[in-house]
Amino acid sequence: MSDVVTCAFCGTEAPEAETLTWTVAVENGRRRAFCDTCSRSNLRAMEGKLDSEWW
Ligand SMILES: [Zn+2]
Repeated sequence: MSDVVTCAFCGTEAPEAETLTWTVAVENGRRRAFCDTCSRSNLRAMEGKLDSEWW
């Protein structure tokens, strides 16, 4: 209920309820969340790495 999600990139923390717009990726069975800001700034890198099938 009161889970806090931490951005894997910048370390920003927010209640899970406020992270619905965050980007969540599962890598090696671990869930990694990226905040709005980092999602945007990393979008190109993520697209390049994960290719088009991810989106
Ligand atoms: Zn972040």
